[in-house]
Amino acid sequence: MKTKIAVAKGDGIGPEIMDAVLRIFEAAEVQLDYEVVEMGKSYFDAGHSTGMTAKAKETIESLGVLFKGPMETPKGKGVKSINVTARKVWNTYANQRDFRSLNGVNTVFSNAGIQINLTIVRENIEDTYGGIEHMLTNDVAVARRIITRPGSAQVIRYAFEMARRKGYKKIACGHKANIMKLTDGLFLETFYEIAKEYPDLQATDIIVDDLCMKLVSHPEWFQAIVLTNLQGDIVSDLCAGLVGGLGFAPSANIGDNISIFEAVHGTAPDIAGRNIANPTALLLSGISMLRYLGLTANAATIENALLYTLEKGIHTGDFGDKTTKAYNTTEFADCIIANLGKHPSTGGAFSQPNFICTPNADFHPDRNKITVTDPNVKEEIMGADIFVETSLQPAEIAEKAKSQLTDKFELVMVSNRGTQVWPTGSIYTELVDQSRIRFEKPEGTEITQKDVFTLASQLADVFKVCSVEMLMKFNDKLGYSLAQGQ
Ligand code: NAD
Repeated sequence: MKTKIAVAKGDGIGPEIMDAVLRIFEAAEVQLDYEVVEMGKSYFDAGHSTGMTAKAKETIESLGVLFKGPMETPKGKGVKSINVTARKVWNTYANQRDFRSLNGVNTVFSNAGIQINLTIVRENIEDTYGGIEHMLTNDVAVARRIITRPGSAQVIRYAFEMARRKGYKKIACGHKANIMKLTDGLFLETFYEIAKEYPDLQATDIIVDDLCMKLVSHPEWFQAIVLTNLQGDIVSDLCAGLVGGLGFAPSANIGDNISIFEAVHGTAPDIAGRNIANPTALLLSGISMLRYLGLTANAATIENALLYTLEKGIHTGDFGDKTTKAYNTTEFADCIIANLGKHPSTGGAFSQPNFICTPNADFHPDRNKITVTDPNVKEEIMGADIFVETSLQPAEIAEKAKSQLTDKFELVMVSNRGTQVWPTGSIYTELVDQSRIRFEKPEGTEITQKDVFTLASQLADVFKVCSVEMLMKFNDKLGYSLAQGQ
């Protein structure tokens, strides 16, 4: 029986490259049925706030696999990116991007004889991609960076499984835990917890800036790399550059129930409708999808035909030898079809299954899943950070804050842009009109959430309070960072 998947052709060059890829699938006798779903810019324009019809959502949720072309999110209408929303609402928590040197695609590395074969797994739901942002004053914007233990564990375990299946020997965690000790620190701690379950893989970590430097100088040192969302986004585009650009960058968004396969590039409005777009990235994404669906023989046949075609110097206008003919999208797909059954001289298709998941179309939950890793953790409120809008000097802020104190709290410090300015600080620290005032309970006492909000309400008599953040302790571990200089 044929497996059925949902297909969204997308906007701009989307329909052209999707038609080319599906034609190659058909010629390779891929046993899939497709249900085309209504999704993309025209559905935003028609008033669907999520950019898709209810029927499309239902179809994707029941089939479990979406193969999608790039989509445009209308600008200035206050709607969120359909691409990001789709990944988040369906919990496609792991974004896998495979990067390898391709014969016929010249790069500084291929010219130097250095072969690249690495995979980035990027966390796909959390981090600043929650898009939770606020202006606290006219001058001060803040974003919440959400990193969770269950979310980190899910994507890191996926990365370890993927690395093992691909036959990799090592896996690295990229991070910035030296600066973001709680958020990146939690991701890194989870990485090493999970690493204990995979003694066959050499697990290391690397600070993300050092990682970028080493990737551009020695990409052959790396195999699997797992990163948080924003850092993973940047590092994976860097890797796309190493192997020839976004035209060769496939992407798989993997979840336990729904997975989305798409190219990394956008709708390329500048060349849309001209039949000149390069379908390689979408084809590589489709090949990943075939492996995910267990159609590994089809995947290998098509990948070898593509590699053979590239090796022969056949190219679209965006890459390759500019002195030779640039094939259009249709012709390029025709060449791949004509080369089905052929093998490149080196660097043929990988035989590994790659993926740990297969779609679970029969699983229809009746409630949202909630994960709490330790329901018995002992929580204690230690105090609060209260953020206020003020243009007073640090000592004046402290005086004013003290005037509202009860014996439940002590004034600990004032910071501005994360740098302590009271009780000690430097006159050279430049300030903006928003400060954080930290209050802690005296040692040996107990405070409640209500005490914190009573304090905030008292402060509201003398300041504009912008936000309140609890200072918590979990078991014996402080759940807040210290200010620079504290
Ligand atoms: P883009 O990737 O569409 O284009 C950047 C440049 O690369 C352009 O010069 C384009 O012609 C070229 N290019 C991209 N894909 C190509 C291909 N397959 N063949 C040949 N050349 C190609 O990026 P952009 O211009 O910043 O974005 C355009 C639109 O795409 C925006 O609306 C954006 O929101 C959307 N977008 C969607 C996705 C997605 O669906 N996942 C991803 C990125 C951007």
